[in-house]
Amino acid sequence: MDIRMDASLGASYHSLQQQARVITEAWAADNMYCVMCGAPHLEPLQNNKPVADLLCPSCRNVFELKSHNGPFGGIIADGAYDTMMARLMDDHNPHLFVMEYNRSEYMVENLWVIPKYFFTAEVIIKRKPLGPNARRAGWTGCNIAWKNIPSQGKIPVIQQREVLDPQCVCQKVSATSELATSKITARGWLMDVLYCLEQLGKEEFSLQDVYGFTAYLQERHRENHNVQPKIRQQLQILRDKGYVEFLGRGEYRWK
Ligand SMILES: [Zn+2]
Repeated sequence: MDIRMDASLGASYHSLQQQARVITEAWAADNMYCVMCGAPHLEPLQNNKPVADLLCPSCRNVFELKSHNGPFGGIIADGAYDTMMARLMDDHNPHLFVMEYNRSEYMVENLWVIPKYFFTAEVIIKRKPLGPNARRAGWTGCNIAWKNIPSQGKIPVIQQREVLDPQCVCQKVSATSELATSKITARGWLMDVLYCLEQLGKEEFSLQDVYGFTAYLQERHRENHNVQPKIRQQLQILRDKGYVEFLGRGEYRWK
């Protein structure tokens, strides 16, 4: 894998945005491997699709690339809100490659993969519809609140220009696959509780620590009026999936 991109590919495009799209997508098609099965190459799906996806010829998993000049910050701008939600509910959303690059040199700085099962309705934020004077008036996009995705779901592939060992990357991805099984609505709770546990930043924690997030979780799941029982249920699921260990008396430890 070469972290340098071929900037000359953008020469025939006028807008910086289009140049960047062509250059970063060509890089991914030439350099990325399948983080799901380890196959060495991915194939671009046809270019006229609304999103330029890459397909693994071996396991048929699909990946989408989102790239940004410099750091992303807390959110990633994505396409149409309704399309995104429909794909999510049908479990048709692709896995996501998130790339931060440097436009002056066209080098990949960082790249993560977010397996598709880390996407839940709670991390997709509806943007305001475009105003009446916009070319696409009424069109509603969405943002991915990627800061709210648990860190287990943001698996580094390239870190500060260092290409990480593909075998280690594939192992990390496969270790998260236990979380893939839950239904989308159930997964929202699971990912949110996982996120809260990570925010504690402790090896061992108590139920009271986790209850400290009751207001946060209530805000995200307004339809539910039993947040604390729900927290206990999610801890049991995380125990059954091998993520946390119960020490007794409301004490827990990461595994
Ligand atoms: Zn594959």
